[in-house]
Amino acid sequence: MGFERPLLGEPYLLTPGPLTTSLATKQAMLRDWGSWDADFRALTAELRRRLLAMIGDVDGAFECVPMQGSGTFCVEAMLGTLVPRQGKVLVLANGAYGLRAAQTLRALGRAHTVIDKGDYLPPRGEEVGAALDADPAITHVLAIHCETSSGILNPVEEIAQATYARGRKLLIDSMSAFGAVPTDLRTLRYEAIVSSANKCIEGVPGFGFVLVRRSELEAAKGNSHSLSLDLHDQWTVMEKTGQWRFTPPTHVVAAFIEALHQHAAEGGVAGRGARYANNRDVLVAGMRAAGFETLLDERWLSPIIVTFFCPADPNFSFPAFYELMKEKGFLIYPGKLTAVESFRVGCIGHLDADVMRAVVAAATRSLAEMKVASAAPAPHVLGERAKLVA
Ligand SMILES: *Cc1c(COP(=O)(O)O)cnc(C)c1O
Repeated sequence: MGFERPLLGEPYLLTPGPLTTSLATKQAMLRDWGSWDADFRALTAELRRRLLAMIGDVDGAFECVPMQGSGTFCVEAMLGTLVPRQGKVLVLANGAYGLRAAQTLRALGRAHTVIDKGDYLPPRGEEVGAALDADPAITHVLAIHCETSSGILNPVEEIAQATYARGRKLLIDSMSAFGAVPTDLRTLRYEAIVSSANKCIEGVPGFGFVLVRRSELEAAKGNSHSLSLDLHDQWTVMEKTGQWRFTPPTHVVAAFIEALHQHAAEGGVAGRGARYANNRDVLVAGMRAAGFETLLDERWLSPIIVTFFCPADPNFSFPAFYELMKEKGFLIYPGKLTAVESFRVGCIGHLDADVMRAVVAAATRSLAEMKVASAAPAPHVLGERAKLVA
């Protein structure tokens, strides 16, 4: 596939969504659709069918329920609908999105408990098992697939094993991994998985979707705290009429269908994942050669987004670095770590290794312009990381 430059000199978005989309995806938004019309209903049906195929739902046990709003709306819809009011959730947190899920449960008034691993470390199957053994009231486990605040790829397979070995249910926030990291039901067990249009499928923002076991959905009638975020209701109406309950983001859906076709043409999840992994490898090798250090150990680096420590050199400032990178055509992303200064570079979106090489060159030039002699972080930062990942 061709990787045309963004339009009109707009910068590349090296961010984990919204991200750089292809020209064809943008062009798919150049017509208006009647939300009740058969042509648009066909788009919705195709979207649901293609997403179910992506998780290998061969025996038809799952449903796809799209939901208006950003990813957080869909996480809230999933939790509010699928966790019964008497349920209790074990939240596995190692960054901002895990903590947000806990905050959501608090707002919903659902009982929950949190394993918080800080910024660097993955929740492991063993500790999930121990937490479940210690608290029989826990009915569900919520895992973050790729914790986008650091870029860590959490070990969801071992978490699923620990969860189902104890008869509990797994819900996965795969927002930033779905479409590029395998979520196939034949190798990974879960009751529901949630993602959104503007991450690895490379659509534009406006809706998300929950892929959920039908029996869970059927049992969830009346659970939801919310009218608009009730997945059961959204599903029931969609099954009956083929329509979304309330105004759908029509143009966003049309762009998403185009993005899904490109995803399939690239070789589906495997093809998309391979391109992103190559983007990451080129980026990380180039940045390390320039003296930067990654937050994470090799083994936990995701193909989605990479966190780098800020250089310790006193001439370095992130806001100035950001502006210099923007001048060169690249929007990078501030860090979201609680303890140390960092920045992030996304590997996802309509971009390839040539773009990543240009990012590295731009970063090197920007450091020189700032008169930063070394990109190395403070030694104590590395010392701390070494202690934590040991
Ligand atoms: C992007 C993302 C979300 C949702 O964020 P929104 O800003 O609401 O779209 C949730 N979880 C993870 C892991 C994410 O990467």
